[in-house]
Amino acid sequence: MPTFVYMSHCDGCGHCVDICPSDIMHIDTTYRRAFNIEPNMCWECYSCVKACPQNAIDVRGYADFAPLGHSVRVRREEDKGTVSWKIKFRNGEEKNFVSPIRTTKWGSIKSSAEYDRPEASRFSSQELAHEPDLLNIDGGLPVLDPKRLKPGAV
Ligand code: SF4
Ligand code: SF4
Repeated sequence: MPTFVYMSHCDGCGHCVDICPSDIMHIDTTYRRAFNIEPNMCWECYSCVKACPQNAIDVRGYADFAPLGHSVRVRREEDKGTVSWKIKFRNGEEKNFVSPIRTTKWGSIKSSAEYDRPEASRFSSQELAHEPDLLNIDGGLPVLDPKRLKPGAV
């Protein structure tokens, strides 16, 4: 189900433009609001829905399940870390789904620019930047204990 933007809710921040893997979220040059330029090319990944701070992005229900009088509402809720879906069928039946979208608090992940620049000597290490600190493990990387291997196993 491809997305569309309620321009009256959009403030033109551009987060959906930045995150869309199909590059189909664009900012209208006259109204400075986002719109989906090619719904047929939408991956239906809903990254834009999750990224939109204004809850301005919604989805079109496919005609085979939701014609005439249907509605599909999707809402990102930062404080709960969820995306909620409310689907209303044309016979009035409603279905509600709530999906967790993250395991850490919204805004708690620092960008790489916020960390100290690695020492030059770290470039010859096999560890990635800021490992092992950001792996949330005490000490170094886990190592295989040979005593836990089954003898003869390959
Ligand atoms: Fe782009 Fe995914 Fe949003 Fe479609 S659902 S407009 S592909 S970010
Ligand atoms: Fe508009 Fe939401 Fe896109 Fe920002 S993320 S430009 S508010 S639709």
